[in-house]
Amino acid sequence: MKRKITLSIILAVLCLGVCTVIHLTHTNVYQNSREFEEFADRSLNERELFRANKNTTTNYTYNETLSIAVQEDESTGERISKFRDDKVNDAEKQYFMQIVSDRSEDLNHACIIDTSVKNSDSGATSLVVYQKFYEESGKNMVLKDSAAKTYLFDTETGKEIKPLQAMTISYRDKVSEYAKEYLRKSFSENKFAENWKDYLVPKWYNFNNFIITGQSVIFYFQPGTVVDKKYGVISLKIPQTVMDSYIRPRILDRYIDPNQPMVALTYDDGPGGKSEARILDCLEKYDCAATFFYQGYRMKKFGYNARRAAELGCDIGNHSWDHPVFSGLSKKQMKSQIDKTNKKIEKVTGITPQLFRPPYGDYNNKVTSAVKSRGMSEVLWTVDTRDWESRDCKQIVKKIKKSKHLDGKIILMHSIYDDTAKATEQIVPWLDKYGFQMVTISELVEFKTGKGLNPGKVYKKID
Ligand code: ZN
Repeated sequence: MKRKITLSIILAVLCLGVCTVIHLTHTNVYQNSREFEEFADRSLNERELFRANKNTTTNYTYNETLSIAVQEDESTGERISKFRDDKVNDAEKQYFMQIVSDRSEDLNHACIIDTSVKNSDSGATSLVVYQKFYEESGKNMVLKDSAAKTYLFDTETGKEIKPLQAMTISYRDKVSEYAKEYLRKSFSENKFAENWKDYLVPKWYNFNNFIITGQSVIFYFQPGTVVDKKYGVISLKIPQTVMDSYIRPRILDRYIDPNQPMVALTYDDGPGGKSEARILDCLEKYDCAATFFYQGYRMKKFGYNARRAAELGCDIGNHSWDHPVFSGLSKKQMKSQIDKTNKKIEKVTGITPQLFRPPYGDYNNKVTSAVKSRGMSEVLWTVDTRDWESRDCKQIVKKIKKSKHLDGKIILMHSIYDDTAKATEQIVPWLDKYGFQMVTISELVEFKTGKGLNPGKVYKKID
């Protein structure tokens, strides 16, 4: 592979020719390209935490100032390959600039870059670029610096994604706890870096450097962050079994910023026909999601819209089989209404509902305990558009626009009315314009509380 950097290195070396020739004789580190290749292979083989895939190639560029070896997977798609090549070029350039600024051009340097790509079952592809920089010192090549940088992609599209699209927000708490335990077991306290605790706080700025391999999640800490710099990059491998509940079963298509306002649009009484299809068109157009609370008996006729809602990343909740007043039912009847509907939704959409909205918002302790016994949470609302009553687009839009402080709120609508679809087509762009992210109930709970849904809890608004 030809690299621009190679040319600039050659030019630089020519300029420094005289200097280099003088020093050529004293080094017995590696003298030619064959010896460099052996050195590079030894360095590449030092890694223990991730083995190279079968189809890897190593490109060696031997040069008396800076020799470069890059190992890469052949099987990577075009988009990710291009991304990786850019990152590798950046690393080479950066190290070359450092050599120039250190005025150490007369020494041998090696830049060994190990890149590895892994696919997970959830549809995320991880790339790690592991760089080691060596400089000649006496008769040895000494590791001067190292770094591991990771990137995540949507396997299907090759687009770069953010950590929270692949992991649920509470993963940081787990890793923080796990990392502390690992460090205490593996290093004596006097080896810890001065500010090691800062790098293990479960906040948004930590634990963003990781790959998901399918068997484990591997986190990387840069040299000198958690333990003394001389240990280089620290890799923390956490088994899949420990991380399972934090890895999203499938990556979120949308990036949700936990620090920006968000609101949950919810639609009851469906699945519906044309009006619901219009609502779904609108959600798709604006790249957002909502929550649909479906009645079991309607799934047979309108299952195609339910499937599409699920595909768009919407939450599918349970709104009973046929809308009875729940407080008037026996426990047995309540459970039967819930179970029958869950089974039907699961069959049609592949999603097991975690959310229940009681018909008419009518609930009491008995209802709550029946819902809890199914491992589900109840969802009510903060903004009632009364769309079922007015069936008037203007009134629906006005109710929402008039509501103050929408961040964290749950808006109630019904997906079976034309005017609700029409109102959605006005409200979604309006919310979007004012910076509101339209999310599902489970996303709202996760991003606002930092935790997952709590079975048996009744959600009215979330902040
Ligand atoms: Zn209803």
